[in-house]
Amino acid sequence: MASNTIFVEIKCSFCNGTGKDPYGIMSYLSTCCVCNGKGTIRVNADHTPCVHCRGTGAIKTLTCTVCGGKGVIPSIAGPTEVCVKCKGTGDDASNWALDCLECRGKGRVPKT
Ligand SMILES: [Zn+2]
Ligand SMILES: [Zn+2]
Ligand SMILES: [Zn+2]
Repeated sequence: MASNTIFVEIKCSFCNGTGKDPYGIMSYLSTCCVCNGKGTIRVNADHTPCVHCRGTGAIKTLTCTVCGGKGVIPSIAGPTEVCVKCKGTGDDASNWALDCLECRGKGRVPKT
């Protein structure tokens, strides 16, 4: 495995590439807080869709705490298995807006 992390530029999931605040919290003319208005974000080339926000980058109208609004998370190195606590959804059982404590919202945990 190369130790150098390679980054790729992808469309911002939170604003869907528009660069504008999708929910108009301040104003619909505000820049997107995830990509700073660029419409694209830099992510680890080895990434996987964020299950907690279903890859949208948003939970309700807030940026997802697991991926920070990017919609993807760096892949977990090595073999993984589905988190038994959230059954891979990444959601807390009592409140879907919160991330699962067991896998920190990733839906998967390193295989033991
Ligand atoms: Zn954006
Ligand atoms: Zn997310
Ligand atoms: Zn979990």
